[in-house]
Amino acid sequence: MSDKDFIIIDEEEHREDRTDIVEEKKETAVAAQEEDGSDDEEYEKYCLMCHRPESAAGKMIELPNHITVCKDCMQKSFDAMTNGAIDYSRLMNMPGVQFMKMSDLEDKIPKNQKIKKKKDKPKEPQKLDIKDIPAPHKIKAQLDEYVVGQEYAKKAMSVAVYNHYKRVATDSMDEIEIEKSNMLMIGPTGSGKTYLVKTLARLLDVPLAITDATSLTEAGYIGDDIESVVSKLLAAADNEVERAERGIIFIDEIDKIAKKRNSSQRDVSGESVQQGLLKLLEGSEVEVPVGANSKNAMVPLATVNTKNILFICGGAFPDLEDIIKERLSHKTSMGFNAELKDKYEKDKDILSKVTMEDLRTFGMIPEFIGRLPIIFTLKGLDKEMLVQILKEPRNAILKQYKKLLALDEVNLEFDEGALEAIAEKAMKKNTGARALRAIIEEFMLDIMYEIPKDDNIGQVTITRQYIEGTGGPIIQLRGQETLMLS
Ligand code: ADP
Repeated sequence: MSDKDFIIIDEEEHREDRTDIVEEKKETAVAAQEEDGSDDEEYEKYCLMCHRPESAAGKMIELPNHITVCKDCMQKSFDAMTNGAIDYSRLMNMPGVQFMKMSDLEDKIPKNQKIKKKKDKPKEPQKLDIKDIPAPHKIKAQLDEYVVGQEYAKKAMSVAVYNHYKRVATDSMDEIEIEKSNMLMIGPTGSGKTYLVKTLARLLDVPLAITDATSLTEAGYIGDDIESVVSKLLAAADNEVERAERGIIFIDEIDKIAKKRNSSQRDVSGESVQQGLLKLLEGSEVEVPVGANSKNAMVPLATVNTKNILFICGGAFPDLEDIIKERLSHKTSMGFNAELKDKYEKDKDILSKVTMEDLRTFGMIPEFIGRLPIIFTLKGLDKEMLVQILKEPRNAILKQYKKLLALDEVNLEFDEGALEAIAEKAMKKNTGARALRAIIEEFMLDIMYEIPKDDNIGQVTITRQYIEGTGGPIIQLRGQETLMLS
């Protein structure tokens, strides 16, 4: 052990103040506990020295002031003392030097950095029952309520998720091991990739962590190391390791970690992130910091097994269409059907013809694609789909505005022409459905500001002219409404 292993604080004169603060902290902690009705029973004890929880390090030795230390660390401390590596008596006698009191460490670790205990006798059965997993058609029907179009993607996802959770449920009878159904979603930006995953996780009531592949780096570089995705999932699962182990991790912008093509230099950054992700996708035990992004002192570590975590990767894969076209037309030009080449050039759905080979040409390493056996594509949204997105999903933007105005007893209507005009504006922005909300919010601001001013207004109809800035909305007063009815 070196001197660095100790924190030496020269704060003799503040000692009394600090005792007060500690006392105060204790009181507030107790008060908070009483208030929210929670207690520490739910959380695992962890070693104050190595930060491992009781489930990993074995039974803890309890010291005064709620301090717990694992047997290994206790033994190491004794060994260090008996080996005479440090002469405590001399250190203690140095003027102005005082060892940090163990009691100061109390309450330093907030609850969000503690690991929840695995429940021995769960009230409800914790094990996933095959009967509880909704059948693929039911999953798809629920997705249909929120996600417009993308029929193939919804179907592929429903089946993959169903199989995945079946695999999790039958974990014990593993003579025939079902392969993991990690997925790769390919589709332009704003086509609903993230939205699909979010909706799916909510419907299945499993924790979800969303990460951007561009923020991931190899351990040791600036950025989040690869295992931080598991740490995020653990946080989403309220630090319950068991729940996290059945969650979903969505890694967006996966195309950004492709090896660079047409480059003379070897590009290692993207490739090494792909390499790093391999063992997570496959299933391995990782030690992750609880409630923090990096493994530093004071943060307890939890061991999470990624075997049953469902990984979904998504990306826009620009230029992939060209790669597919090139492959297909190369094949045809060798034969005698040259007009097919022209057909591929015009094919709007060319992306759905993607193969592993194309992805490899794009710059994904074969081992990585191999671990994402379910590959499917999402279509770019056309005008019709954008109009549907505006009005049809359960929580469609128009429904939300309608509800807001209904609370003022005002009926909000949109002309079909207005909806088309909004969709046309969104198409120009090339960001898929993402642009819709911004466009609507821009012109609804005036409506939401002006309408509540006048109690007589009974109905507002948004027109194409209003969206295009050449006219105003149609306002009907309450009196007129009754007039029209009679
Ligand atoms: P990306 O494909 O880039 O991940 P998102 O899933 O983030 O796109 O889509 C952005 C927003 O657009 C979503 O929050 C959702 O409200 C809306 N959206 C996109 N596609 C659809 C769709 N097919 N059906 C309904 N809403 C959609």
